Amino acid sequence: DPPQSSQDRSNGGIMMEQGSNGTVIRLRALSKHFGAHTVLDAIDLDVRPGEVLAIIGPSGSGKSTLLRCINYLERPDGGTITIGPTTIDASMPVERAELSKLRRRVGMVFQSFNLFPHMTVLRNVSIAQERVLGRSRAEAEERAMQLLSRVGLADKAGQHPGRCSGGQQQRIAIARALALDPEVMLFDEPTSALDPELGLEVLAVMRELADSGMTMIVVTHEMGFAENVSDTVMMMADGDIVEKGSSNQVMRQPQQERTKRFLRAVH
Ligand code: ADP
Ligand code: MG
Repeated sequence: DPPQSSQDRSNGGIMMEQGSNGTVIRLRALSKHFGAHTVLDAIDLDVRPGEVLAIIGPSGSGKSTLLRCINYLERPDGGTITIGPTTIDASMPVERAELSKLRRRVGMVFQSFNLFPHMTVLRNVSIAQERVLGRSRAEAEERAMQLLSRVGLADKAGQHPGRCSGGQQQRIAIARALALDPEVMLFDEPTSALDPELGLEVLAVMRELADSGMTMIVVTHEMGFAENVSDTVMMMADGDIVEKGSSNQVMRQPQQERTKRFLRAVH
């Protein structure tokens, strides 16, 4: 089916709390250094409700660090992160309660699925709902079953993740992240550990999520996803945003030589 523009998308019943400025995520001058190495150089970024942003760029350009800084898995050195109504100033000490509020708004899916191996698939998707959101077990399991159905894995609920394929495990990881009703989903190369065929089933789930109106930031080397599913593409190199624009524009008519060179190399 043809790519949909963001205007075509309904919001699919997903709750999106908006800041007063109409952005779900707003970064200002977000910086990160490792020693003398500047990994993120004062990044400014706005992501609108329902926007699907793909981040492309060579290895080592700071893409993973950017995602990890957004939910404070990595502590930025400076700048601000605003998610919905919550702003965190990285130059100030941050309280744990504030951090967990921030993290709750952000679902994250990694290259490695990191499921709990000793728990059933159902438990993997239900447990944080009880611990973090205080839902009852019955409520959490009902929601988990809905989400497992949504990613096509209701029949795996009683199994352990080790018995599932890599593509299935990644779809379970997506369901687990969705279970906390995040306002934005971050994906860090979710298909790069998978055989191409298994990657496709994960990409199909991500596309469905995008079409349902979820706000997403996706670090990807899947140029098809960047071109056909995302609304916006951002090219990074050496900790900087090289260019950012509509997916059509960046993928088909890149303005910067660095982007042209990168796209020639990966196509
Ligand atoms: P990408 O995801 O674009 O490949 P990363 O964000 O993983 O890039 O890394 C960006 C740069 O930061 C790389 O040069 C990497 O070596 C460096 N880096 C990442 N994490 C650490 C760390 N914990 N300590 C030191 N350097 C790091
Ligand atoms: Mg990376």
